[in-house]
Amino acid sequence: MQKLHEGKLPTKDKPVREFIPDTVCILMGMHLGAPSKPCVEKGEYVKLGQLIGEPVGALGLPVHASVSGEVLDVSLKQQMVAEPAMCVTIKNDYKDEWADNLKGLGDVETVDPSLIVPAIKAAGICGMGGACFPTHIKFAMREGQYCDTIILNGAECETYLTSDHRLMLENPERIVNGLRAAMRAMGVERGVIAVEDNKPDAIESMKKAAEGRLGVEVAALKTKYPQGAEKQIIESITNRQVPRQGLPIDAHVIVLNVGTAAAISDAVSFGRPVVSRITTVTGCVKSPDNLRLRIGTSFHDAIEACGGYSETPGKLAAGGSMTGICVASDEVSMTKATNGIVVYNLEDAKSFDEGLCIRCGRCANVCPTGLRPYLMKPYCDANDLAKAEKYDVMDCIVCGSCSFICPARLWLTASFKNTKEKILLERKRRSGK
Ligand code: SF4
Ligand code: SF4
Repeated sequence: MQKLHEGKLPTKDKPVREFIPDTVCILMGMHLGAPSKPCVEKGEYVKLGQLIGEPVGALGLPVHASVSGEVLDVSLKQQMVAEPAMCVTIKNDYKDEWADNLKGLGDVETVDPSLIVPAIKAAGICGMGGACFPTHIKFAMREGQYCDTIILNGAECETYLTSDHRLMLENPERIVNGLRAAMRAMGVERGVIAVEDNKPDAIESMKKAAEGRLGVEVAALKTKYPQGAEKQIIESITNRQVPRQGLPIDAHVIVLNVGTAAAISDAVSFGRPVVSRITTVTGCVKSPDNLRLRIGTSFHDAIEACGGYSETPGKLAAGGSMTGICVASDEVSMTKATNGIVVYNLEDAKSFDEGLCIRCGRCANVCPTGLRPYLMKPYCDANDLAKAEKYDVMDCIVCGSCSFICPARLWLTASFKNTKEKILLERKRRSGK
């Protein structure tokens, strides 16, 4: 059995450092759902947290200025997604003056619960563990559905990343406040903060912050990849299984990332939208670090803030080696989901070149959800969504285990991730929303 190279040592003990760039290029389509519609023009002055993109459709989310200053450009730009996408570029004047209309609701323990989910939506919060699924949608129950447990995912089992670890050490109260807000919004009595047992300091920090908070527990999970995947974490905490093709709510659970909970706390208490996040910048950079970055900071600026490249880069990825996606250049900008920027050297980059499937079956042996990746991949690559669904691609938790084990270095996980997004968009198109 190959052992996972965790790669966390260079950054796990580095306190979060803020880096603020001269310009930000903010993608309108960083969440799962229709891209937002820009509502500012070139030359306009915007304040920090001001609305710059209006939500579109049922899964739409507002987008906000992550710095104050002049709008330089509203145009299509090449970003992490395949096609050029609409972006708003802002020149930072470093005044950091918050927009006037941002008002908090007050203490999460006393606020009217019915106001919490609208505040989450207004703040543009989406899954900050990497999924970027609009968070307010998770709170919408269909008939017959109910939630009795909210789990905060602090497992951070993905390789190289230490952003959630540092957040749990440095801002545990924000996380607990966000959890309590989510519990009160849903009328839920049990909230569990789940952390892998290889982070004893984070467990201790969260336990201390949870003391005296109604219904909040901290659970130490066995360190085992992919412990942080939703279905795995639900089973570990509740002993319930999410059915095939099902969602966490089918097991009466909502799962949120710890970073998402911290964002909920800011939205409810202060009315502040998501304008920054912690991102681990590591690999072949001179000084790997955990940076608090403004949304829209370019990978280039983030890497420069860590001393620049330490050797010739081979590949750049957003996220860790198991679930991250390779990006075309360091000119792309980080989004609300960018938990890591990992630079691979030329030698490591060779492992990204795809070979041919030799039908060894190792991918199926390691798949935690019992899928047959070698059968799904050809249909995903051929864009045959119906066949890919038939082979259960929607049950893929995008854990990266198959790609890791594959001797032919096939890009299995990336292919499944793309296909899942296409299927979701197709379903949305068909439902007319
Ligand atoms: S592990 Fe790779 S080579 Fe082996 S069957 Fe799966 S896809 Fe094919
Ligand atoms: S990424 Fe691969 S191993 Fe993980 S759930 Fe999907 S198919 Fe299975």
